Amino acid sequence: MTRETEIKLHEFFRGFAGAATSLLLLDYDGTLAPFRVDRFKAAPWSGVRELLNQIQNQKKTRIEVISGRPGAEIVSLLNLETPPTVWGLHGAERLYPDGRRELEFPAPAVRAKLDALSAKLRGDAFGGLFEEKPNAAVMHWRGVAPPKARAIEERTRELFEPLAENDGLQLLDFECGLELRAGRDKGGAVKAILEEVGAGGAAKIPAAYLGDDLTDETAFAAMKGPGLSALVRRERRRTQAEIWLRPPEELRAFLRMWIEAAG
Ligand SMILES: [Mg+2]
Repeated sequence: MTRETEIKLHEFFRGFAGAATSLLLLDYDGTLAPFRVDRFKAAPWSGVRELLNQIQNQKKTRIEVISGRPGAEIVSLLNLETPPTVWGLHGAERLYPDGRRELEFPAPAVRAKLDALSAKLRGDAFGGLFEEKPNAAVMHWRGVAPPKARAIEERTRELFEPLAENDGLQLLDFECGLELRAGRDKGGAVKAILEEVGAGGAAKIPAAYLGDDLTDETAFAAMKGPGLSALVRRERRRTQAEIWLRPPEELRAFLRMWIEAAG
């Protein structure tokens, strides 16, 4: 842990004194779990599930996960004793612990554009892995050798960029992929949660967001003021996050500090 991170964490956890509740917002892939080329095998780093169960059992923290995946995938991969609320599809979906699900449906014209795109890419995904979501078309090139990955990216951008110029579709860059999507992003999800709990108001609620990818940057930005944001990544990069944690050791250390502070 860098000295800078240690100082900021010390200050952050001091804020738990007297707080009745706290808010822990988490990305999944790359943050709680290492990447796997087969994304259905991405289990949390050793010890992380147990630490999150412990935090939930203290009943002092509200945990919400915000992921690019459909929410149901997170619930089963994370497999906590009590399922947390999960925002899927980068924030366009919200899946509650009791199974209730809210989904922002794209407008019919937007959906038609995504359908046409999907029909094309289902036939030829340029050598990448094409994923269809209710609100998006996604191209993945994780695990592909660099020259081939560049070719896939180039062809995907050529196809996605003109569509992103209008009508409610946005390009979303992530590491080893590109998404063309509609709806709320991770920053929007964070803002909605903060508003719900009244963070940033008179009652100061300790709140943190942990993420690794470019798609987490809007969430980091939304935490400025109301809480702490952490980039969880082996290598540091330019980011809006306030602190840097190297997984899995420093992630586990962070969660242990959380348990101590909330206990
Ligand atoms: Mg991630």
